[in-house]
Amino acid sequence: MFYFIATSLVNAFIAGLLGFLVISKNWRDLANKLFFGLSISVVFWALNYWQWLSSQNANSALVFSRLFSVGALFIPIFYFHWVLIFSGTNKQYKTFLKVLYFIAFVFLSLSFSKLFIEGVGQKLFFPFWPTPGILYNIYLIVIYFGLTIYSLFILWRSYIRSNDSHQKAIIKYIILGSFIGFSGGATNFFLWYDIPILPYGNILVSFYPLALALASFRHGLFNIKVIATELLTLTVWIAVLVELILAETWEKRLLEAGLLAFVVVSGIFIIRSVLKEVEQKDKFKDLSERLESANAQLKQKTLYLTTLQGFTHDIGRTLDFKEITQKIVDGISEKFGYLAGLLLLVSEDGKMIFPVTITENTITKIALKILPKQMHEYAGDFEHDDTLSIRAVKDNAIQQSNAIADFLSPPISETLCVTIQKATGLKSGVAIPIRSEGKAIGVLDIFLDRPKEEIGGDELEVMKTLANQIGIVLKNASLFEQVKEANEKLKELDDLKTDFISIASHQLRTPLTAIKGYTSMIMEGSYGEVSDKVRVTIGKVFQSAQRLIYIVNDLLDISRIEQGRFTIALEPIKVANVLKDVVEELQQNAKSKNLSLELAVAPENMEVTASADFNKIRQVFLNVIDNAIKYTNEGYVRVGVEKRANDVLMSVKDSGIGISEASMKNLFQKFSRAKGVTKLHTDGSGLGLFIVKKIMEAHGGTVWAESEGEGKGSQFYVSIPLQKE
Ligand code: ADP
Repeated sequence: MFYFIATSLVNAFIAGLLGFLVISKNWRDLANKLFFGLSISVVFWALNYWQWLSSQNANSALVFSRLFSVGALFIPIFYFHWVLIFSGTNKQYKTFLKVLYFIAFVFLSLSFSKLFIEGVGQKLFFPFWPTPGILYNIYLIVIYFGLTIYSLFILWRSYIRSNDSHQKAIIKYIILGSFIGFSGGATNFFLWYDIPILPYGNILVSFYPLALALASFRHGLFNIKVIATELLTLTVWIAVLVELILAETWEKRLLEAGLLAFVVVSGIFIIRSVLKEVEQKDKFKDLSERLESANAQLKQKTLYLTTLQGFTHDIGRTLDFKEITQKIVDGISEKFGYLAGLLLLVSEDGKMIFPVTITENTITKIALKILPKQMHEYAGDFEHDDTLSIRAVKDNAIQQSNAIADFLSPPISETLCVTIQKATGLKSGVAIPIRSEGKAIGVLDIFLDRPKEEIGGDELEVMKTLANQIGIVLKNASLFEQVKEANEKLKELDDLKTDFISIASHQLRTPLTAIKGYTSMIMEGSYGEVSDKVRVTIGKVFQSAQRLIYIVNDLLDISRIEQGRFTIALEPIKVANVLKDVVEELQQNAKSKNLSLELAVAPENMEVTASADFNKIRQVFLNVIDNAIKYTNEGYVRVGVEKRANDVLMSVKDSGIGISEASMKNLFQKFSRAKGVTKLHTDGSGLGLFIVKKIMEAHGGTVWAESEGEGKGSQFYVSIPLQKE
């Protein structure tokens, strides 16, 4: 009997003390108020329990047992309410709570009726054990067991959902403490139903308020130092309390009461000072934790940005539109770790939006399989559809949702979207508008394996930057695409022109040859005597025809070059011999202009052999030497040849009009003639040097010119590969 009396007093003491401590910390807090209610209920229950046990007659035992049952009634109710507040779910249970409090007061009003406790009677060595009424059974099942187990379930659920390890630890302690207290309290009920188990667990009821008080103080009380101090002071308190209960004389009682007051007050002071110290430490810990998390955030951001940089660099390297869009959506999953990306582009008239490319991976494969039509057939209509993809473009703002249907439906039906979301495990999506030069050109839908609540602002910022970069890259690519198209058109035109030149030249050559033939026969007198006057005129016709033939030949060469039909046949060529021949042929031209045309070859270079096409190399020499004569009005033209380490170098030096720096740049291009030469030298087409260059390229050789400037003469050099021995 003494044990049970002692346990109830210890319970009352601990609960009362904790209730006082918590409420004094912050009495405005609802959780604290509820805790105080709980503690008072425990105190009320325990004190009446003690009085009931000490009762000498049935009447007073009945009254006290009814009173302690009222305390027992409110313990689970305050506990449940406290758990709701603690786990933040109280809003969902608003009406439930009202009903609960209403029931509690119904019970309260009936607590002195026979419905609740019928009477008291002998049970084992307890003379006045109460007998339960019908209401008591309901209280036991619904309130004590039902409500407490449900509270434990709510706690367990918030334990599972919590991501914070500290919070998790607290919940764990609360569950453990409540469970111990609940089981201990439950040992009280066996005797009510004639099961011979004594309420040994009574003392454990103190764990209820203990666990909750720990949670109310959060951090501080979990510190091992504080717990040790608390346990120590608590033991001293209980020891003194027991002494007080056991005291037989009044003097002793007074002494023990004084001692108790002293140890309680000093104990509270000790606990407080230890708490303060721990809190101080916690503050530092908090600060360093915050620093750490800021650091982690920064790291994450840097990582995002470097990935972004690498990614945009990567996609920027290609200019093919299709390849780029594919790279973009694939990079969304490969580089950034998102599940999938879908790129939609706005039509040119701004009325529709088309899915263009989607990440190629297993997830999208599953999704595409579910769709009955091809992806690009699901175009959105700006006027009638209102998807988040469209809204992102219209409002120029990022859109987020946990339902994939919000992004795609319609055009894709909602049921299909739901099926896709289930099959792929997508948890949310983000639609980011893509703009270029202030105009919305499309939207990038990113799908993730996390709900939108778990996507931070930093991450959205990075997505925005990504979309900006994509806008620039897409713009560049589309510009390039336009240039490419224009180029292709130009090339087609060029081919047409080459064909035309080729046909026209062939058609021209035959009549020109005929003209040349007939004029030459006229001059030779084949058609009878001609006067000198006629001969001179016919001579001019002959020369003009000859010039035209040269031009036509040049044109034919060019069309051959451009059609890729230009071939050369290499053989060993003695360069000095070819040059001798060409110089001889052009000697007449030089003489008619009073120029000295000389070929100077050192004896050791006489036999130098190059690997060349005879006719073509002769054409090259003729061309450059003829030019030198043509563009020199007085002085000389000197031709030379020299064997070098890897080539044979032919050179032509003249004292002619020279070449300006500006003209030098385009000298070897098609139809290029130096400024000013057209006036004096009408008989040029600007094709010769172009053909020379092409011929030399085909030989694996080169040609170049040097000049000090206008009026200072020029040198032309032709390098031909040596014939290997
Ligand atoms: P063209 O039929 O006009 O001679 P070419 O292709 O042979 O065409 O030469 C291109 C241009 O190069 C000439 O129009 C002339 O302006 C310049 N050029 C070529 N050879 C010389 C040179 N020896 N001295 C000065 N200018 C030259």
